[in-house]
Amino acid sequence: MTTTRRKAVLIGAAHYRRGSYGRNHPLAIPRVSLTFDVIKAYGALSDEEFRVSRAATARELARFHTREYIQALQRSEAFGHVRHEDRLRHAVGTLENPYFPGVFYTPALATGGSIQGAEEVLAGRHAFSPAGGMHHAVPDQARGFCYFNDVVLAILTLREADRRVLYLDLDAHHGDGVEAAFWNDPAVFTVSLHMDTAYAYPFRGGGLQDQGGPQAPGSSFNVPLPKGTGDADYLAILRHILPAICGRFAPDVIVVQAGTDALHGDPLGRFRLSTTGFLTAIAEVIGVGLPVLVTGGGGYHPLLLARAWTGVWALLSGRTLPAALPDAAAQALRAVGWDADEDEPYYDNLFRSRLDHPDTDHISDWLPAFMRQLDGHVVLGRTSWVS
Ligand SMILES: [Zn+2]
Repeated sequence: MTTTRRKAVLIGAAHYRRGSYGRNHPLAIPRVSLTFDVIKAYGALSDEEFRVSRAATARELARFHTREYIQALQRSEAFGHVRHEDRLRHAVGTLENPYFPGVFYTPALATGGSIQGAEEVLAGRHAFSPAGGMHHAVPDQARGFCYFNDVVLAILTLREADRRVLYLDLDAHHGDGVEAAFWNDPAVFTVSLHMDTAYAYPFRGGGLQDQGGPQAPGSSFNVPLPKGTGDADYLAILRHILPAICGRFAPDVIVVQAGTDALHGDPLGRFRLSTTGFLTAIAEVIGVGLPVLVTGGGGYHPLLLARAWTGVWALLSGRTLPAALPDAAAQALRAVGWDADEDEPYYDNLFRSRLDHPDTDHISDWLPAFMRQLDGHVVLGRTSWVS
């Protein structure tokens, strides 16, 4: 191989050290800041690789969101509370999507970061926007802890430059907001591997039969999976579908939503991926050879998340990091005070290693029949693909 390695950039901001979502919310945990702490403990970020996130402007947000909704978030931030009408109309100020100081600025900053990431990808670099990945938000409402859909706005940036975009959603939940936004765009192919919505949020959609709108039939690929899905099943499926999709759809760039709630131990997820399995999935995507924008996403176990996203950055930037966590990383992880699973057998390893034991051999009984079902998708089937 004589290919020169693509450069990569990591997008962040000191603002994320402030915390958000108030108390008693699954996202009231350090995520982006803790990831940066672990990456820096490894000495794995140069000045040239770092980009300070800018906030998306109201005008940029309006490419997807309604003016009424943008103004409702601005108004809530300015007044320090959400008006009753705005709560009803836009689903903010609820238990799910609470008011917090910065309820407009923080998601606008994450969105600006993901748009910057798209711009880096247009310049041929890989980019990682860990504060992004808010895949559930819809034009006029917050949904599922997501206020602005930075993923949609990043993909729109790529579409304006006429790129064909493959979107791969690895979050444990169905990427419904992104899928809906591009349901009828034949130049955006959305793939989502997720907990079957029969038992998991958003409790509708995301079925095998949901394959795109009338103007873009076959441009969505949904993989609804059972509880307990682990490394071997997950990777077998990804390796089965990804080359076929890339071959038929021929994307120019790939956008990956890398929520970590599919990891074993996540308090809201029901899958059993190891960090190693999760990173193998990311490596498969990078291996396609196209510029990749990775965003963050869900992930409600801060230690699992920071370890996994450190690994994502290592893969994108072409670094080989030791598995053993540097002392400063272990200290940063301990300082979180997370002990919800301290009796679990894996707990001590969370502070010793950035990886946990993969289970790459155990193929489930349901997998062969499920793969045959997947083959019914137009992009895998014998029917010719029309884009
Ligand atoms: Zn999720």
